[in-house]
Amino acid sequence: MKSPGQPTMSATRSPQGRAPTQIDGHRTCLVETCDTVLSKYNKKQFCHKHWPVTFPVQRGLEKSAA
Ligand SMILES: [Zn+2]
Repeated sequence: MKSPGQPTMSATRSPQGRAPTQIDGHRTCLVETCDTVLSKYNKKQFCHKHWPVTFPVQRGLEKSAA
């Protein structure tokens, strides 16, 4: 049985907190010989190819206290 004036179910949209930071213009990889254009959403300064790979810290090494 349908009743007029039935409240419609409206899903609550989660507000998008903050928009991704956009950097003006298009940027290319910091490597001068590399012309790879970085996405404006990409905060990195290198393209995927030149992005420095960080190796996992080996276990057993003593952490030098600062
Ligand atoms: Zn590059």
